[in-house]
Amino acid sequence: MCVLCTNVAESKEHLFFECFLSKEIIKFLLNSVEVQSKGFLFSEVTNLKNGVLAGASQCKVAGKAAINLAIYSIWKERNARILRGEEKSIEAIKMEVDSTLKMMLAKINTMELTHKNIQWAIAMGISPEFKRKESDATQTLATMQPIHSQRRSA
Ligand SMILES: [Zn+2]
Repeated sequence: MCVLCTNVAESKEHLFFECFLSKEIIKFLLNSVEVQSKGFLFSEVTNLKNGVLAGASQCKVAGKAAINLAIYSIWKERNARILRGEEKSIEAIKMEVDSTLKMMLAKINTMELTHKNIQWAIAMGISPEFKRKESDATQTLATMQPIHSQRRSA
């Protein structure tokens, strides 16, 4: 029996992709990184990883990180319920994965220091390590200046 919904026989497909709780978590994480998915079944998530998310740009890496984190957190919750009898609410799991995701995104170091990527990082609420691209750096830093001075004076 699936320990997340206690309603359906447990299988890998059900646990990670069909259970209402798992769908909520994957949906929540993909939303956080602004990735749209047709659905959240195993085949649909796999298509996403091998399709629109294939590649090394920052939003693709973020999308894949979000899927991996969803699967990891579902597995962790399942084990906590089975092994320790501990149960978290969906809201508590969402809060936890949200902060983990931000930490993971901050470690993405393939991001070029461009205006677009900085806008993205600000939208995600993260401050990743940027790979320096000399040609853009001067202009980008000039754009960033107001943010820094605002923070300093605050
Ligand atoms: Zn279930």
